[in-house]
Amino acid sequence: MLEKGPIGLGNTGRNTTIVRSNYLLPQNHHFYEHSLKLWEGLEQDLNYNAMVSQRGVVGLFHSEGAKNAAVRRGNAMRLSGIDAELLDKEQIRAMCPLIDVDNGRFPVMGGLMQRRGGTARHDAVAWGFARAADQRGVDIIQHCEVTGIDVEGGAVVGVQTTRGPIKAKKIGLAVAGNTSRLAQMAGLDVPIESHVLQAFVSEGVKPLVDQVITFGAGHFYISQSDKGGLVFGGGLDGWNTYAQRGNLPVVEHVWSAGVAMMPSLSRLRGLRQWGGVMDMTFDGSHIIGKTPIQGLYMTAGWCYGGFKATPASGWCHAWTIAQDAPHTLNEAHTLDRFRTGRLLDERGNGPFPWMQ
Ligand SMILES: Cc1cc2nc3c(=O)[nH]c(=O)nc-3n(C[C@H](O)[C@H](O)[C@H](O)COP(=O)(O)OP(=O)(O)OC[C@H]3O[C@@H](n4cnc5c(N)ncnc54)[C@H](O)[C@@H]3O)c2cc1C
Repeated sequence: MLEKGPIGLGNTGRNTTIVRSNYLLPQNHHFYEHSLKLWEGLEQDLNYNAMVSQRGVVGLFHSEGAKNAAVRRGNAMRLSGIDAELLDKEQIRAMCPLIDVDNGRFPVMGGLMQRRGGTARHDAVAWGFARAADQRGVDIIQHCEVTGIDVEGGAVVGVQTTRGPIKAKKIGLAVAGNTSRLAQMAGLDVPIESHVLQAFVSEGVKPLVDQVITFGAGHFYISQSDKGGLVFGGGLDGWNTYAQRGNLPVVEHVWSAGVAMMPSLSRLRGLRQWGGVMDMTFDGSHIIGKTPIQGLYMTAGWCYGGFKATPASGWCHAWTIAQDAPHTLNEAHTLDRFRTGRLLDERGNGPFPWMQ
């Protein structure tokens, strides 16, 4: 396992830690439900406290159209045996009194809740996985940047790194926003754009927000960390970049959407803000699978949501590399689908396309 910096300081240590499986498309919700089940037993499996907290994830809706989309998504989930619950306006008010339910511009009509969703401590997850992998004999080499991928006769034979060459018959890419860069080292163009996504944390306050809540009328979602800081974010900055920092217009946009949903947030001071580089696919679904180059595999295209996938993406990626064939959970998530047109259009299926 080669990492150009210290492990966990990519998007894994930069995200807002939400885990859930409330996707509309069966190919996606079965995959994420497998992941959620792995989260539920992760701390026992890794023997490490990853602070998995099933506090519930709720997405608010503010129009009949958005309600219909939420009902459709909830029904699709329930038909697959995944928990989903429709809450009305009064249940939202009772759940979180800070929400301006009667907002003149964006009145809340209700929300779609997944009670088994929640959060996990991101850096603990990285360290827990690293420790468990190390105990099973995986060599983790930090500060070792891959600078080239050697291909002979259409098959990989090794990598060049800042610490020397390494021969390998099979190589798996798991480099998020750097996927296009690494793929190009093997002469491959991938349908992924890199965009920055920012996150924010406020000063610590007493417990105020018990769930993960997403505003349905603007780019904003929020939860509260165990230290008391409100952790929140919004949408992409909107132009292509490999920079791990964001721009001020989005800072303003996210805070104003937050204040529209919870006016009392205007009294809080922001403590920190940061950005990560997202590997965006244009159908909003991920890629786990083979590439046209023999022996080169990739897990990529995670958009806003690869943290919650961590246990299942590793699981399916490992399966695919070992078997040289996908598991049923990732057989639809091919790189090839962007050529054949068999897209998994989760993005167009709202109502919370930006939801983490
Ligand atoms: C602000 C923000 C909020 C988010 N919120 C959520 C959320 O709430 N829930 C959720 O599910 N997802 C969320 N995400 C998305 C999630 O964080 C990512 O999809 C996920 O962490 C990707 O994991 P990864 O292991 O593929 O990539 P990363 O964790 O980014 O790891 C890739 C690693 O590859 C290394 N690397 C790159 N190039 C090279 C090279 N040439 N050689 C060697 N190593 C290299 C990098 O240093 C990096 O450590 C969020 C992301 C951001 C930025």
